[in-house]
Amino acid sequence: MNISFNKFNFLEKTLETIDSPLITSGQVKDSFSYNLLGNGIMLLKPTKQNESTKSILLSCAVHGNETAPIEIINKIITDIFSLKLSIKHNILFILGNPRSIIAKKRFTIENLNRLFNGKWNDKAENYEVLRAKEIEKHVDSFFQNVSSEKLHYDLHTAIKPSIHEKFAIYPFLHEREYNEEQLVFIKDCGVDNILLANSPATTFSYHTSYNYKAHAFTVELGKVKDFGNNDPQDFIQVDKSLRELISNDETRKKQFSEADFNIYKVVKEIIKNSAEFKFHVDDTKNFTPFPKSTLISSDKNDEYRTLSDNERIVFPNKNVALGQRAAFMVSKSKIK
Ligand SMILES: [Zn+2]
Repeated sequence: MNISFNKFNFLEKTLETIDSPLITSGQVKDSFSYNLLGNGIMLLKPTKQNESTKSILLSCAVHGNETAPIEIINKIITDIFSLKLSIKHNILFILGNPRSIIAKKRFTIENLNRLFNGKWNDKAENYEVLRAKEIEKHVDSFFQNVSSEKLHYDLHTAIKPSIHEKFAIYPFLHEREYNEEQLVFIKDCGVDNILLANSPATTFSYHTSYNYKAHAFTVELGKVKDFGNNDPQDFIQVDKSLRELISNDETRKKQFSEADFNIYKVVKEIIKNSAEFKFHVDDTKNFTPFPKSTLISSDKNDEYRTLSDNERIVFPNKNVALGQRAAFMVSKSKIK
């Protein structure tokens, strides 16, 4: 197997072997073992297993054109293989949608981040459906029957410009409570805007949160740009925090303060139900606020008007498939 440990490039290796994925495993010095489980899916374990108190899933490229997270994760992996960065925990790295990376598109056939939590099972076979199935299988092996703390950060960049450039989506927790320590970590990643989801979803972060009780987040780190056009300065904090997370074994003791965050809750999920669906507000930035009773969207049989002042729109996209979410409406909230 021709892996060069000094300059291992997981992204390149993943794209080169897309038609016949490299399935292999091995050991790097006495530091860690690697296990290439599938295309763009790799498990690393520190050799001294007694040190591992966390199982960490780091995913990116669930949308293939969201390059900044791919660059961050790929560089972290390169530094682990060249022993510049040590690991203290079991880590599963996933490049979600390699064919859409090549195509420089969000997805090839359908949105991978609408296929998790078993949704792929209801669908006709296509590349994204097969990816969701394969990813869920490996995530299940990774998180099933694990007693250590389970963490999942699914890294994205957004299509639209945003009033809050960086924000994280906290998946719907059902009866579980928001975890303050996790929110402090997200803030250390440079992300202090939190969106609390209010219902089950078919996203990757909801899948791991719901099925494995992982602390899971969808983390939006800025705007979509092509490879090479991301400014590393914009991602210093998330890069540093992820490196500290994987290479340290202490838990952080920083205090949570609600005042450090802008916390929003979803008040309405606008669904596109027919071809007549349209927005009545201009092409807006994420988190644009509107006064009460603003007509936001209309569809064949209904419309949506804001219920209160300062309701904000997130992820407006009229081009989604029928039955899918065309926008979130959110308002200021608290976790306590
Ligand atoms: Zn995305």
